[in-house]
Amino acid sequence: MRTRVEWEQLARSVEPRRRAFIGGAFADAADGEEFATVNPATGLVLATVARGKAVDVDRAVAAARRAFDAGGWSRAAPAHRKAVLLRLAEAIRAHADELALLDTLDGGKLITDTTTTDIPGAAAILQWYAEAIDKQYGEVAPTARADLAIVTREPLGVVGAVVPWNYPLEMAIWKLAPALAAGNSVVLKPAEESPLSALRLAELAVEAGLPDGVLNVVPGYGEEAGQALGRHPDVDAVAFTGSTTVGKLFLRYAGESNMKQVWLECGGKSANLVFADAADLDLVADRAVFGIFGCSGQVCSANSRLLVEESIADELLERIRTRAAALRVGNPLDPSSTMGPLISERQLERVLGYVAAGRVESALAFGGNRLHEAGGGYYVEPTAFRDVPDAAVISREEVFGPLLAVSTFRDEAEAVSRANASEFGLAASVFTDSLARARRVARDLNAGTVSVNTVDALDVTVPFGGVKQSGFGRDLSLHALDKFTSLKTTWFAGPQEG
Ligand code: NAP
Ligand code: MG
Repeated sequence: MRTRVEWEQLARSVEPRRRAFIGGAFADAADGEEFATVNPATGLVLATVARGKAVDVDRAVAAARRAFDAGGWSRAAPAHRKAVLLRLAEAIRAHADELALLDTLDGGKLITDTTTTDIPGAAAILQWYAEAIDKQYGEVAPTARADLAIVTREPLGVVGAVVPWNYPLEMAIWKLAPALAAGNSVVLKPAEESPLSALRLAELAVEAGLPDGVLNVVPGYGEEAGQALGRHPDVDAVAFTGSTTVGKLFLRYAGESNMKQVWLECGGKSANLVFADAADLDLVADRAVFGIFGCSGQVCSANSRLLVEESIADELLERIRTRAAALRVGNPLDPSSTMGPLISERQLERVLGYVAAGRVESALAFGGNRLHEAGGGYYVEPTAFRDVPDAAVISREEVFGPLLAVSTFRDEAEAVSRANASEFGLAASVFTDSLARARRVARDLNAGTVSVNTVDALDVTVPFGGVKQSGFGRDLSLHALDKFTSLKTTWFAGPQEG
């Protein structure tokens, strides 16, 4: 691993792409406007980027449609799409340092995370879908013998992807990889806080052989570019990751426009249930700390509610406190930092607002303060509250920051029903040494993913997504292809008897 100084040197050689990518080429916004993207570690402007609006989204959708209709991608043999996407995965690996730096500078993510998780993860996921796509078979239906009915998977057409800033490149790839593998054209709107890696990716994709117009990137504001995509009459589906509030807007946009399909990965308030029979309290503490302070808590499936059995609560909280105190909150380019800043000043204010609410409704266990304010970055201490009532704001609402709400329970039934008493249902965890309990609790927790004796279990091989107001549709795994394909029935009538 390079030193901070070496990363800073390398960062100076990185040249952010600052314009939208439409129809295979970079382009300014039609009205020439730009917006600033900020480095959360310093609060300083990193670059100004084209501010895409409805007219730019329109151009991008038209380019995507032209590419789709031309068939160079949509009708290409799956083996060809595989080859191109494998080249793109290799290009991501070949430019790993540059892409990691872009996500670190633009999104405030630890360089130790972007180099080991985000960028290699993005390449691996792309590779996985590339390798999968020429192994998908259609069906022959069990009709009467005289007839023949086949069921094929068809690409939808133009897919809109709207993603957040917490894993800028990886979230984009979660949508792009299955959508492109299936033969769609895509218009991607990255988050306004972190547009840079997506713009570089689009350029690499064309170099890898993706036909012009198949992947377009329109940076801009949610209310402008995001809404325009959601309302566009020629977009067939939108795949969204972000907040529940904005997810609901996409449902409205679709209803008020062309009834496009909408797939939503939204917020969470994931419960982590720790029973007194959990064998290894150090492991529990390690995982709990990772589950809420990893990525500065800006993770949709963050384990933000810790429900612990009364008899071990003090002991576990002490072990968590010790580990949190050992976290080094600092510059994300410094490989010795183990927690970086929050994404923006707005997010910092939001998190500090929740800290204030927590102080009123429960007891501060540790943390709660802003850090390194003089340096201009948006750092906050790892924070926990204890004895947090279920009705407290920090028990109910998604904070999206390093804030843990701890409360105790007496028995299993209470733990499960309180864990489920949330408007979200993205993920949940349970720690126990009893196999019977693990099976009961995992069965009864109402969440898209239940992790047993770990937190946030995640892999390209398994579906990821939520129930309730955490959304619907699944990212990752072969199931993600369902979102980006339609099933087509073709029926060949049998020869007339006679
Ligand atoms: P967000 O505000 O919902 O934004 C997500 C995306 O939607 C951004 O590209 C944003 O653009 C765009 N957007 C915002 N307002 C819009 C509007 N009125 N119309 C159309 N698009 C709009 O979420 P965020 O604050 O970036 O990310 C945090 C949220 O994402 C959390 O709630 C978290 O739980 C969720 N998340 C979920 C998952 C998951 O897989 N379930 C993964 C990661 C994050 P701007 O950037 O311009 O605002
Ligand atoms: Mg930024």
